[in-house]
Amino acid sequence: MKPIVKNIVIFFVVVIVVGAALSLYNAAPISKPKTAGMETLISQINEEKVKAIEIQGDSLHITLSDDSKEVVRKEPTESFSEVVKNYNLDPVKVAKAHPEVKGDGAGAWAVAILPFVLPFLLLIALVYIMSRQIQGANSRAMMFGSSRARKLEADNKKNKITFKDVAGVKESKEELKEIVEFLKDHKKFTDLGAKIPKGVLLVGPPGTGKTLLAKAVAGEADVPFFHVSGSEFIEMFVGVGASRVRDLFARAKKSAPCIVFIDEIDAVGRQRGAGLGGSNDEREQTLNQILVELDGFEPNDNVIVIAATNRPDVLDPALLRPGRFDRRVYLDPPSINDRDEILQVHSQKKPLAADVSLRRIAERTPGFTGADLSNLLNEAAIWTARHDRKEITQDDILASIEKVMLGPERKSHIISDEEKKVTAYHEAGHALISHTLKKAGSVQKVSIISRGRAAGYTLNMPTEDKYFTRKNEFLADLAVMMGGYVTEEFIFGDVSTGAHNDLSKATDVARRMVTDYGMSALGPQTFGHDDDAVFLGRDMVARRNYSEKTAEQIDEQVHIFTTDAYKAAKEVITTHRAKLEEIVQLLLEKETIEQEEFARFFPA
Ligand code: ADP
Ligand code: MG
Ligand code: ZN
Repeated sequence: MKPIVKNIVIFFVVVIVVGAALSLYNAAPISKPKTAGMETLISQINEEKVKAIEIQGDSLHITLSDDSKEVVRKEPTESFSEVVKNYNLDPVKVAKAHPEVKGDGAGAWAVAILPFVLPFLLLIALVYIMSRQIQGANSRAMMFGSSRARKLEADNKKNKITFKDVAGVKESKEELKEIVEFLKDHKKFTDLGAKIPKGVLLVGPPGTGKTLLAKAVAGEADVPFFHVSGSEFIEMFVGVGASRVRDLFARAKKSAPCIVFIDEIDAVGRQRGAGLGGSNDEREQTLNQILVELDGFEPNDNVIVIAATNRPDVLDPALLRPGRFDRRVYLDPPSINDRDEILQVHSQKKPLAADVSLRRIAERTPGFTGADLSNLLNEAAIWTARHDRKEITQDDILASIEKVMLGPERKSHIISDEEKKVTAYHEAGHALISHTLKKAGSVQKVSIISRGRAAGYTLNMPTEDKYFTRKNEFLADLAVMMGGYVTEEFIFGDVSTGAHNDLSKATDVARRMVTDYGMSALGPQTFGHDDDAVFLGRDMVARRNYSEKTAEQIDEQVHIFTTDAYKAAKEVITTHRAKLEEIVQLLLEKETIEQEEFARFFPA
């Protein structure tokens, strides 16, 4: 802002100086020769004392017979001939005075109008300078409407991403390879009368590689890539988004063939007329403009729009109809083989010790996305570097898994012996029930080292990927979740706040068993909409498609599930009390028990 203030100051200084100069200029010719009144001049003419009259604008420069000079001012509205008429002068006498209009009328004009025009000129100059400065200062005030898409050129070799960098997601890659072919040689397809798709929608949970895949398509096809995020269209002012969309597509068409990538399109592509606080004009206009642009360019324009979202359910149906984003590519969280491959891709530039088995890491990380895995290896590298070692070992990576999942270890978090004991029983309870009710080997680690917000933790992740969960598995899970609470109560006759997280998770699972999966006595039916909670936009209030009475029954069924789980847990603890004590002893001694050690408690 400072330069603007400076400019204004300069502006005023210039105005004052110029103004002063002008007034001096005006005053100058008057000050030197003697000035006289019109009456004097008239009498002088009548007395034939005047030799010459020079008319310069409003001033009459008089030369008298004795060669002395004087200046007479006349009214600006009156010409000299009018003066002659008004004063009834004798034309013969006037002719003897040799009146003559001097040609410097233009200069006089300039002097006359300059005081009015100059401020305007200065003002225009000021505005021009200021606008230049605002743009120069990188403020976008003057270019609201232009899109902020970043353009990656095709020959950008340095950060070029290709399909090789994307591990797993085979089917999605196959789909997109087709797109690459379209971009490389669209004639092959159009000659056969095939229409090239205009839009591809990448759908998948966060971190599954949507952005990465879109970049890979551009890298493979060797075409320019416009990258913009849905939220970047939206500004405070209505209409800006639409104009940015227009600008983006205009730019894209100029550099066709190319890819326009709209990341997180749900930011603009939400169902119209939905959303808390009524409709959002700006978003709707932006979306409409995107629809118009998608319809507007011809399939042969060779611009392919790729969009990514993790919320396909909230997208406006108009976006999804054929002719727009009619291709949909789904990205799932990676399977164990995919995780293995992703780990390989990301460990390429990292020195791994000989003992590292990426397969084992993949086994330990169900539910991890590509982004999680890349983060995991990064954490492991940082951990190794901080310990001044040159190679990443298996243990480094395993330790990082827990760090990524649960937060950093808090070894300095000193807890009293009493609390340590409670934590040990709590975690031992979880582990014991997990081992008893689920299959052996399900417990991978028990620890009473505080991590993140948890006082201790028991890792019992499935060793293979599961896409379904059966009711019996849910029941066992519920009992395991109750394990900590039940053990504390059984041993100390009292419960602590440490079980809060377990209980809330258990209640959540039990409720979903009733309302979503039809696993309760209420039978095969769902209650409510699963997206109510997240997407309040569709209706202001979560729609309930059941009566008050049913609501009561649901609560009742949830209660039955949780109390049954409680009873099951209690039974295990009571029958295996001795084992529980053994585990607790070892936990208090070593703080952490690994899978193999834990298995030794239960000889086959
Ligand atoms: P999304 O856009 O789906 O949220 P990104 O594409 O931004 O996820 O992925 C984030 C990071 O995770 C990528 O930069 C990459 O390092 C890693 N990643 C995700 N999926 C994969 C994959 N399939 N192969 C390799 N790396 C992946
Ligand atoms: Mg992304
Ligand atoms: Zn617990």
